[in-house]
Amino acid sequence: MKERVLITGAAGFLGSHLCDRFVNEGFEVIGMDNLITGSLDNIAHLMPLENFEFHHHDVSNFVHVSGKLDYILHFASPASPIDYLKIPIQTLKVGSLGTHNLLGLARVKKARMLIASTSEVYGDPLVHPQVEEYYGNVNPVGPRGVYDEAKRFQEAITMAYHTYHKLETRIVRIFNTYGPRMRLNDGRVLPAFIGQALRGEDLTVFGDGSQTRSFCYVDDQVEGIFRLLMSDYPYPVNIGNPDEITISQFAEEIIKLTGTDQKVIYKPLPKDDPMQRQPDTSKAKKILGWDAKVDRKVGLKITYEYFKSLPEEKLHKTEHKNFSSFIK
Ligand code: NAD
Ligand code: UDP
Repeated sequence: MKERVLITGAAGFLGSHLCDRFVNEGFEVIGMDNLITGSLDNIAHLMPLENFEFHHHDVSNFVHVSGKLDYILHFASPASPIDYLKIPIQTLKVGSLGTHNLLGLARVKKARMLIASTSEVYGDPLVHPQVEEYYGNVNPVGPRGVYDEAKRFQEAITMAYHTYHKLETRIVRIFNTYGPRMRLNDGRVLPAFIGQALRGEDLTVFGDGSQTRSFCYVDDQVEGIFRLLMSDYPYPVNIGNPDEITISQFAEEIIKLTGTDQKVIYKPLPKDDPMQRQPDTSKAKKILGWDAKVDRKVGLKITYEYFKSLPEEKLHKTEHKNFSSFIK
Protein backbone atom coordinates (compact mmCIF):
# COMPACT_ATOMS: atom_id res chain seq x y z
CA MET A 1 0.00 0.00 0.00
CA LYS A 2 1.31 3.43 -0.95
CA GLU A 3 2.37 5.85 1.80
CA ARG A 4 0.07 8.85 2.10
CA VAL A 5 1.20 12.43 2.72
CA LEU A 6 -0.73 15.64 3.43
CA ILE A 7 1.00 18.83 2.24
CA THR A 8 -0.48 22.14 3.38
CA GLY A 9 0.29 25.26 1.35
CA ALA A 10 0.30 22.95 -1.69
CA ALA A 11 -0.65 25.67 -4.19
CA GLY A 12 2.20 27.91 -3.06
CA PHE A 13 5.79 28.08 -4.22
CA LEU A 14 7.48 25.52 -1.95
CA GLY A 15 4.35 23.42 -1.37
CA SER A 16 3.85 22.81 -5.09
CA HIS A 17 7.47 21.69 -5.54
CA LEU A 18 7.08 19.35 -2.57
CA CYS A 19 3.91 17.90 -4.13
CA ASP A 20 5.92 17.21 -7.30
CA ARG A 21 8.65 15.47 -5.33
CA PHE A 22 6.30 13.23 -3.33
CA VAL A 23 4.21 12.37 -6.39
CA ASN A 24 7.41 11.42 -8.24
CA GLU A 25 8.56 9.31 -5.28
CA GLY A 26 5.33 7.29 -5.60
CA PHE A 27 3.43 8.64 -2.57
CA GLU A 28 -0.28 9.35 -2.53
CA VAL A 29 -0.38 13.11 -2.09
CA ILE A 30 -3.15 15.26 -0.65
CA GLY A 31 -2.51 18.94 -1.29
CA MET A 32 -4.42 21.40 0.90
CA ASP A 33 -4.60 25.18 0.44
CA ASN A 34 -7.02 28.09 0.86
CA LEU A 35 -5.36 29.94 -2.06
CA ILE A 36 -4.79 33.12 -0.04
CA THR A 37 -1.33 33.64 -1.56
CA GLY A 38 -1.08 30.51 -3.73
CA SER A 39 -2.46 29.67 -7.14
CA LEU A 40 -3.98 26.55 -8.68
CA ASP A 41 -1.74 27.24 -11.71
CA ASN A 42 1.15 25.85 -9.62
CA ILE A 43 -0.47 22.41 -9.31
CA ALA A 44 -2.63 22.27 -12.46
CA HIS A 45 -0.29 19.64 -13.92
CA LEU A 46 -0.86 17.37 -10.89
CA MET A 47 -4.67 17.51 -10.90
CA PRO A 48 -5.22 14.74 -13.49
CA LEU A 49 -2.91 12.31 -11.66
CA GLU A 50 -4.34 9.37 -9.76
CA ASN A 51 -2.01 9.78 -6.79
CA PHE A 52 -2.82 13.47 -6.26
CA GLU A 53 -5.91 15.12 -4.80
CA PHE A 54 -6.55 18.73 -3.83
CA HIS A 55 -8.56 19.98 -0.84
CA HIS A 56 -9.52 23.66 -0.80
CA HIS A 57 -9.45 24.40 2.93
CA ASP A 58 -8.22 26.95 5.49
CA VAL A 59 -6.12 24.94 7.96
CA SER A 60 -6.70 27.49 10.72
CA ASN A 61 -10.11 25.79 10.97
CA PHE A 62 -10.52 22.14 12.04
CA VAL A 63 -8.83 19.87 9.49
CA HIS A 64 -10.46 16.60 8.47
CA VAL A 65 -8.84 14.01 6.21
CA SER A 66 -10.36 10.56 5.79
CA GLY A 67 -8.22 7.44 5.54
CA LYS A 68 -4.67 6.90 6.72
CA LEU A 69 -1.88 9.48 6.75
CA ASP A 70 1.80 8.63 7.14
CA TYR A 71 3.23 12.14 6.92
CA ILE A 72 2.06 15.75 7.25
CA LEU A 73 4.13 18.65 5.92
CA HIS A 74 2.79 21.98 7.15
CA PHE A 75 3.83 24.67 4.65
CA ALA A 76 0.71 26.84 4.69
CA SER A 77 1.57 30.40 5.71
CA PRO A 78 2.01 33.75 4.03
CA ALA A 79 5.78 33.98 3.54
CA SER A 80 6.72 37.33 2.06
CA PRO A 81 6.96 40.44 4.26
CA ILE A 82 4.45 42.24 1.99
CA ASP A 83 1.96 39.36 2.30
CA TYR A 84 2.16 39.00 6.04
CA LEU A 85 1.88 42.73 6.57
CA LYS A 86 -1.34 42.71 4.54
CA ILE A 87 -2.79 39.68 6.33
CA PRO A 88 -1.20 39.73 9.79
CA ILE A 89 -4.00 37.99 11.71
CA GLN A 90 -4.22 35.11 9.20
CA THR A 91 -0.45 34.75 9.46
CA LEU A 92 -0.63 34.44 13.24
CA LYS A 93 -3.57 32.03 12.99
CA VAL A 94 -2.07 29.64 10.45
CA GLY A 95 1.18 29.42 12.43
CA SER A 96 -0.60 28.85 15.75
CA LEU A 97 -4.16 27.48 15.30
CA GLY A 98 -3.28 25.85 11.97
CA THR A 99 -0.27 24.10 13.45
CA HIS A 100 -2.31 22.98 16.47
CA ASN A 101 -5.01 21.50 14.21
CA LEU A 102 -2.44 19.63 12.14
CA LEU A 103 -0.59 18.32 15.19
CA GLY A 104 -3.93 17.00 16.44
CA LEU A 105 -4.54 15.34 13.09
CA ALA A 106 -1.02 13.85 13.12
CA ARG A 107 -1.70 12.41 16.58
CA VAL A 108 -4.95 10.76 15.53
CA LYS A 109 -3.41 9.36 12.34
CA LYS A 110 -0.08 8.45 13.99
CA ALA A 111 1.60 10.42 11.22
CA ARG A 112 5.02 12.06 11.27
CA MET A 113 4.73 15.84 11.08
CA LEU A 114 7.26 18.28 9.59
CA ILE A 115 6.79 22.02 10.01
CA ALA A 116 8.19 24.78 7.79
CA SER A 117 9.97 27.15 10.14
CA THR A 118 12.23 29.94 8.99
CA SER A 119 15.46 31.87 9.46
CA GLU A 120 13.14 34.64 10.70
CA VAL A 121 13.10 32.89 14.11
CA TYR A 122 16.60 34.41 14.46
CA GLY A 123 15.16 37.90 13.80
CA ASP A 124 17.86 40.50 13.08
CA PRO A 125 20.62 38.12 14.14
CA LEU A 126 23.52 39.10 16.36
CA VAL A 127 25.26 35.75 15.76
CA HIS A 128 26.65 35.17 12.29
CA PRO A 129 26.33 32.77 10.52
CA GLN A 130 23.21 31.53 12.27
CA VAL A 131 23.53 28.23 14.13
CA GLU A 132 20.48 26.31 15.33
CA GLU A 133 21.51 26.90 18.98
CA TYR A 134 21.12 30.70 18.58
CA TYR A 135 17.87 31.91 20.21
CA GLY A 136 17.48 34.96 18.00
CA ASN A 137 16.82 38.68 18.25
CA VAL A 138 13.15 39.19 17.42
CA ASN A 139 10.94 42.24 18.00
CA PRO A 140 7.56 40.70 18.89
CA VAL A 141 5.62 43.95 18.37
CA GLY A 142 7.36 45.13 15.19
CA PRO A 143 5.91 44.60 11.70
CA ARG A 144 7.62 41.21 11.30
CA GLY A 145 6.47 40.04 14.74
CA VAL A 146 3.28 38.48 13.32
CA TYR A 147 5.33 36.09 11.20
CA ASP A 148 8.37 35.59 13.42
CA GLU A 149 6.40 34.92 16.59
CA ALA A 150 3.89 32.66 14.80
CA LYS A 151 6.84 30.58 13.59
CA ARG A 152 8.47 30.56 17.03
CA PHE A 153 5.17 29.44 18.59
CA GLN A 154 4.89 26.82 15.84
CA GLU A 155 8.26 25.40 16.82
CA ALA A 156 7.34 25.45 20.52
CA ILE A 157 4.01 23.64 20.12
CA THR A 158 5.57 21.11 17.74
CA MET A 159 8.31 20.37 20.27
CA ALA A 160 5.66 20.08 23.02
CA TYR A 161 3.72 17.48 21.01
CA HIS A 162 6.97 15.62 20.49
CA THR A 163 7.87 15.71 24.18
CA TYR A 164 4.47 15.20 25.78
CA HIS A 165 2.59 13.15 23.18
CA LYS A 166 5.62 11.33 21.76
CA LEU A 167 4.62 12.50 18.28
CA GLU A 168 7.25 12.10 15.58
CA THR A 169 8.09 15.64 14.51
CA ARG A 170 10.63 17.45 12.32
CA ILE A 171 11.45 21.18 12.16
CA VAL A 172 13.11 22.74 9.12
CA ARG A 173 14.39 26.33 9.37
CA ILE A 174 14.23 27.50 5.77
CA PHE A 175 16.54 30.30 4.61
CA ASN A 176 15.62 32.50 1.58
CA THR A 177 14.67 30.07 -1.17
CA TYR A 178 13.87 30.95 -4.79
CA GLY A 179 12.88 29.35 -8.06
CA PRO A 180 10.06 28.97 -10.58
CA ARG A 181 6.48 29.44 -9.26
CA MET A 182 7.34 32.29 -6.92
CA ARG A 183 4.68 34.96 -7.35
CA LEU A 184 6.08 37.72 -9.51
CA ASN A 185 4.48 40.38 -7.33
CA ASP A 186 4.79 38.94 -3.82
CA GLY A 187 7.29 41.65 -2.88
CA ARG A 188 10.21 39.31 -2.18
CA VAL A 189 13.44 40.66 -3.53
CA LEU A 190 14.06 38.21 -6.36
CA PRO A 191 10.64 38.44 -8.06
CA ALA A 192 10.64 42.19 -7.32
CA PHE A 193 13.96 42.75 -9.15
CA ILE A 194 13.20 40.41 -12.07
CA GLY A 195 9.68 41.87 -12.45
CA GLN A 196 11.13 45.40 -12.51
CA ALA A 197 13.74 44.40 -15.10
CA LEU A 198 11.08 42.76 -17.30
CA ARG A 199 8.78 45.80 -17.08
CA GLY A 200 11.64 48.19 -17.81
CA GLU A 201 11.54 49.80 -14.36
CA ASP A 202 14.42 50.75 -12.09
CA LEU A 203 15.37 48.18 -9.45
CA THR A 204 14.39 49.26 -5.92
CA VAL A 205 17.06 48.50 -3.32
CA PHE A 206 15.87 49.11 0.24
CA GLY A 207 18.31 50.88 2.57
CA ASP A 208 21.88 51.26 1.33
CA GLY A 209 21.87 47.68 0.03
CA SER A 210 24.58 46.51 2.42
CA GLN A 211 22.23 44.04 4.15
CA THR A 212 22.97 40.44 3.21
CA ARG A 213 20.96 37.34 2.29
CA SER A 214 21.96 33.83 1.16
CA PHE A 215 19.76 32.42 -1.59
CA CYS A 216 18.98 28.71 -1.94
CA TYR A 217 17.60 27.15 -5.13
CA VAL A 218 14.29 25.33 -4.64
CA ASP A 219 15.56 21.87 -5.73
CA ASP A 220 18.24 21.97 -3.02
CA GLN A 221 15.65 23.05 -0.46
CA VAL A 222 13.24 20.24 -1.39
CA GLU A 223 16.05 17.68 -1.17
CA GLY A 224 16.98 18.92 2.32
CA ILE A 225 13.36 18.81 3.48
CA PHE A 226 12.87 15.30 2.11
CA ARG A 227 16.01 14.04 3.85
CA LEU A 228 15.02 15.68 7.13
CA LEU A 229 11.55 14.13 7.01
CA MET A 230 13.07 10.69 6.49
CA SER A 231 15.67 11.18 9.24
CA ASP A 232 15.09 10.53 12.93
CA TYR A 233 16.15 14.03 14.08
CA PRO A 234 13.41 15.98 15.95
CA TYR A 235 15.28 19.26 16.56
CA PRO A 236 15.48 22.26 14.21
CA VAL A 237 17.75 22.01 11.17
CA ASN A 238 18.79 24.96 8.97
CA ILE A 239 18.37 24.35 5.24
CA GLY A 240 19.78 27.07 3.01
CA ASN A 241 22.67 27.97 0.76
CA PRO A 242 25.50 29.64 2.72
CA ASP A 243 26.61 31.68 -0.33
CA GLU A 244 25.99 35.17 1.13
CA ILE A 245 25.76 38.42 -0.85
CA THR A 246 24.64 41.99 -0.26
CA ILE A 247 21.35 43.13 -1.77
CA SER A 248 23.27 45.71 -3.87
CA GLN A 249 25.41 42.93 -5.37
CA PHE A 250 22.26 40.92 -5.95
CA ALA A 251 20.67 43.81 -7.86
CA GLU A 252 23.79 44.01 -10.05
CA GLU A 253 23.56 40.27 -10.75
CA ILE A 254 19.92 40.66 -11.85
CA ILE A 255 20.82 43.62 -14.08
CA LYS A 256 23.51 41.49 -15.73
CA LEU A 257 21.28 38.44 -16.05
CA THR A 258 18.35 40.29 -17.60
CA GLY A 259 20.43 42.70 -19.68
CA THR A 260 18.18 45.57 -18.59
CA ASP A 261 19.51 49.10 -19.05
CA GLN A 262 17.62 50.29 -15.96
CA LYS A 263 19.48 51.45 -12.86
CA VAL A 264 19.26 50.85 -9.13
CA ILE A 265 17.26 53.33 -7.05
CA TYR A 266 17.28 53.44 -3.26
CA LYS A 267 14.21 53.38 -0.99
CA PRO A 268 13.99 53.43 2.83
CA LEU A 269 14.86 50.21 4.65
CA PRO A 270 11.71 48.65 6.16
CA LYS A 271 11.64 48.51 9.98
CA ASP A 272 13.41 45.50 11.54
CA ASP A 273 14.75 44.32 8.16
CA PRO A 274 17.54 41.89 9.16
CA MET A 275 21.00 43.28 8.33
CA GLN A 276 22.66 39.92 7.78
CA ARG A 277 21.58 36.36 7.14
CA GLN A 278 23.60 33.24 6.39
CA PRO A 279 22.84 29.70 7.46
CA ASP A 280 25.36 27.57 9.28
CA THR A 281 24.59 24.26 7.58
CA SER A 282 26.98 22.02 9.55
CA LYS A 283 24.06 20.19 11.14
CA ALA A 284 22.36 19.45 7.80
CA LYS A 285 25.69 18.19 6.45
CA LYS A 286 26.37 15.98 9.44
CA ILE A 287 22.88 14.60 10.11
CA LEU A 288 21.41 14.51 6.60
CA GLY A 289 24.52 14.36 4.43
CA TRP A 290 22.98 17.38 2.69
CA ASP A 291 24.67 20.32 1.02
CA ALA A 292 23.40 23.01 -1.36
CA LYS A 293 24.53 22.11 -4.88
CA VAL A 294 22.94 24.59 -7.29
CA ASP A 295 25.08 27.62 -8.03
CA ARG A 296 23.20 30.94 -7.89
CA LYS A 297 24.08 31.71 -11.49
CA VAL A 298 22.40 28.50 -12.65
CA GLY A 299 19.36 28.83 -10.36
CA LEU A 300 18.78 32.46 -11.32
CA LYS A 301 18.89 31.64 -15.02
CA ILE A 302 16.22 28.92 -14.65
CA THR A 303 14.07 31.26 -12.55
CA TYR A 304 14.43 34.13 -15.03
CA GLU A 305 13.39 31.85 -17.91
CA TYR A 306 10.29 30.90 -15.90
CA PHE A 307 9.28 34.52 -15.26
CA LYS A 308 9.89 35.38 -18.92
CA SER A 309 7.53 32.59 -19.98
CA LEU A 310 4.59 33.98 -17.96
CA PRO A 311 1.71 35.63 -19.82
CA GLU A 312 2.04 39.40 -20.25
CA GLU A 313 -0.89 40.21 -17.90
CA LYS A 314 0.84 38.50 -14.95
CA LEU A 315 3.83 40.74 -15.46
CA HIS A 316 1.78 43.90 -15.15
CA LYS A 317 -0.57 42.82 -12.40
CA THR A 318 0.73 44.58 -9.31
CA GLU A 319 -1.89 43.15 -6.93
CA HIS A 320 -2.28 39.40 -7.14
CA LYS A 321 -4.89 38.80 -4.51
CA ASN A 322 -7.98 40.44 -3.16
CA PHE A 323 -6.90 39.84 0.42
CA SER A 324 -9.91 41.73 1.77
CA SER A 325 -12.17 38.80 0.87
CA PHE A 326 -10.20 36.70 3.37
CA ILE A 327 -10.20 39.19 6.26
CA LYS A 328 -12.13 37.86 9.25
P1 NAD B 1 3.68 30.87 -0.67
O1 NAD B 1 2.95 32.10 -0.26
O2 NAD B 1 4.04 30.69 -2.09
O3 NAD B 1 2.91 29.57 -0.20
C1 NAD B 1 2.14 29.51 0.97
C2 NAD B 1 0.86 28.75 0.65
O4 NAD B 1 0.10 28.58 1.87
C3 NAD B 1 -0.04 29.50 -0.34
O5 NAD B 1 -0.44 28.64 -1.37
C4 NAD B 1 -1.22 29.95 0.53
O6 NAD B 1 -2.41 30.07 -0.23
C5 NAD B 1 -1.27 28.84 1.57
N1 NAD B 1 -1.93 29.23 2.82
C6 NAD B 1 -1.68 30.32 3.60
N2 NAD B 1 -2.50 30.33 4.66
C7 NAD B 1 -3.26 29.20 4.58
C8 NAD B 1 -4.28 28.64 5.39
N3 NAD B 1 -4.70 29.24 6.52
N4 NAD B 1 -4.85 27.46 5.01
C9 NAD B 1 -4.45 26.84 3.87
N5 NAD B 1 -3.50 27.33 3.04
C10 NAD B 1 -2.92 28.50 3.40
O7 NAD B 1 5.02 30.83 0.24
P2 NAD B 1 6.26 29.82 0.20
O8 NAD B 1 7.48 30.61 -0.07
O9 NAD B 1 5.95 28.66 -0.63
O10 NAD B 1 6.33 29.37 1.73
C11 NAD B 1 5.84 28.13 2.16
C12 NAD B 1 6.23 27.88 3.60
O11 NAD B 1 7.66 27.91 3.74
C13 NAD B 1 5.70 28.94 4.58
O12 NAD B 1 5.33 28.29 5.78
C14 NAD B 1 6.88 29.83 4.82
O13 NAD B 1 6.83 30.44 6.09
C15 NAD B 1 8.04 28.85 4.72
N6 NAD B 1 9.30 29.54 4.35
C16 NAD B 1 9.55 29.88 3.05
C17 NAD B 1 10.74 30.55 2.74
C18 NAD B 1 11.11 30.91 1.33
O14 NAD B 1 12.18 31.49 1.14
N7 NAD B 1 10.33 30.61 0.32
C19 NAD B 1 11.65 30.86 3.77
C20 NAD B 1 11.34 30.51 5.08
C21 NAD B 1 10.17 29.83 5.35
N1 UDP C 1 14.50 44.24 -0.82
C1 UDP C 1 14.92 45.26 -1.65
N2 UDP C 1 14.10 45.63 -2.68
C2 UDP C 1 12.89 45.05 -2.92
C3 UDP C 1 12.48 43.98 -2.09
C4 UDP C 1 13.30 43.62 -1.04
O1 UDP C 1 16.01 45.81 -1.47
O2 UDP C 1 12.21 45.46 -3.88
C5 UDP C 1 15.38 43.82 0.28
C6 UDP C 1 14.70 43.73 1.65
O3 UDP C 1 14.70 44.98 2.29
C7 UDP C 1 15.58 42.71 2.36
C8 UDP C 1 16.04 41.78 1.22
O4 UDP C 1 15.83 42.50 0.01
O5 UDP C 1 16.69 43.33 2.92
C9 UDP C 1 15.28 40.47 1.16
O6 UDP C 1 13.91 40.77 1.19
P1 UDP C 1 12.75 39.69 1.02
O7 UDP C 1 11.46 40.43 1.14
O8 UDP C 1 12.99 38.91 -0.21
O9 UDP C 1 12.92 38.67 2.21
P2 UDP C 1 13.42 38.73 3.73
O10 UDP C 1 14.68 37.97 3.69
O11 UDP C 1 13.63 40.16 4.17
O12 UDP C 1 12.32 38.08 4.48
